[in-house]
Parts: sequence; C-alpha cells; structure tokens
Amino acid sequence: MVGDQCSLPAERPVHAQSPKAGLSCKMVLQAVGKVLRKSKGKPNGKKPAPEEKKLYLEPEYTKSRITDFEFKELVMLPREIDLNEWLASNTTTFFHHINLQYSTISEFCTGESCQTMAVCNTQYYWYDERGKKIKCTAPQYVDFVMSSVQKLVTDEDVFPTKYGKEFPNSFESLVKKICKYLFHVLAHIYSSHFKETLALELHGHLNTLYTHFILFIREFNLVDLKETTIMDDLTEVLCSSSGSSSNGSGNGSSNSAGAQNHVKER
Ligand SMILES: [Zn+2]
Repeated sequence: MVGDQCSLPAERPVHAQSPKAGLSCKMVLQAVGKVLRKSKGKPNGKKPAPEEKKLYLEPEYTKSRITDFEFKELVMLPREIDLNEWLASNTTTFFHHINLQYSTISEFCTGESCQTMAVCNTQYYWYDERGKKIKCTAPQYVDFVMSSVQKLVTDEDVFPTKYGKEFPNSFESLVKKICKYLFHVLAHIYSSHFKETLALELHGHLNTLYTHFILFIREFNLVDLKETTIMDDLTEVLCSSSGSSSNGSGNGSSNSAGAQNHVKER
C-alpha cells in the first residue's frame, strides 16, 4: 500500500541515483550561484519572506518547453486500450520521469535545506501504516514516496504485466494515491528547487513534465482539485497555453503514434 497506509524503513537508501546528467557538483554550484546573483538573491543570511516572488511564474521561464506536443490529445484513452492498462502505463512512466527530474536536484534537497516537505506555505507529513503522522524532511518524504511507488509498480498483483492477469479492485485508488504523492514531489521541485533547475537548464523539461502530468490527472480525475490548488497559478499558465497553442477540439490524428509509444514504455 502506498501513502497513508504505507511505511518504509526510514534508513532505506535514497532512491535517486544522484547526481545525474554528468555535471560535476562544482559546475552545478557555480551555475546555481550565477542564477542566484541574477535573480537578486538575498545575501544577508535572512530567511526569504514566505511569499517571495515565484520565479517559476516568470514568463521567460514558463514558456520554456522541450516540445510543443499537444498533451491534451496524448493523455486521452486510445480506442481499444483498456483503461487500467492505460492508467498503469502512464502512472509508471510519470513515476520514472518525476523520479529522474527530482534526482537532478536531489543533492540540493537535504535535511538542512528542506527541513520539512514544504510546497509554498504548505507542509506535508507522511503517515505510517498505522496512520501515524510522521514529521520528516523533504528528502525523507520524497524517499518514502519513491520507495513505496517503486514497490507498487513492480508488484505483479497490483500492476500486472502478464497477459490475462486482472487488476485488483483497489487499483484505481492506488493510482490516485500515487498521483497525489507524485504531485507533491513536482510541486516541491518548483517551490524549493526551481533556481537549481534553472541553473541546470532543466526548466523546460520540468514544465513539459508538469503540463503532461496535470493534463493526465485531470483527464481521469485522479487527484482531488483541492490537492492541486496550491499550484493553480502555475497550472493555469502552463496548461492553458498548452491547450490554446493548437486549435483545440482536434481530430485526434496525431494521437495514436504518441499513445502507442507510451504504452510501450511500460
Ligand atoms: Zn527540497
């Protein structure tokens, strides 16, 4: 079980195979320094005001994508594909991509820099299998999320891959939980590690991944709207521009190729 029901040993090794991208720590630090200077960082050691300007909402960054593909079409259930198969395949893919995206900044997400799992002014807690609230740092929280999702998506009883094997009754609710926690991770990257993501020039990847993910969870109502409100300002900018870039109600002609690639990724 994931999430509220899930507990994993706190000492479990960190999931992210950091650091990625072949960048040395020094290079990244230099790049981060450059961005911090550029974005008028506060060098006086004072904690930034909680409601400081959200860098990730700057138009020069929100327009950055790695593709202008029409995600609204890509997330739709293709004909002849079973809904659960589609949810399983996409959820697994998002898990891998979000894990990878987090791993690029994981060396900056430490118990010191992120003492709580915070997104803007909201703090998240993990719950163990008895429902006991666990206060943890952001890297611990992300580790709980990634480890438990990894366990689920590789569990043949939950995410069956063999022909003829049925999905469990709890499948949809598990997918919902997974998506909720993956959303927290994405939101934390934006709210706490966008500067480092910029320095690595990975904000186009992050924006693209976020847009694709949000459109997917919306298409199948996988995450409560209350849960995602916290990032509504970003969602509005990223997802509405994605929708309006091509003239909407498409004929689905570009749909099948992309969709099939997706299914294969599982
Ligand atoms: Zn962090």
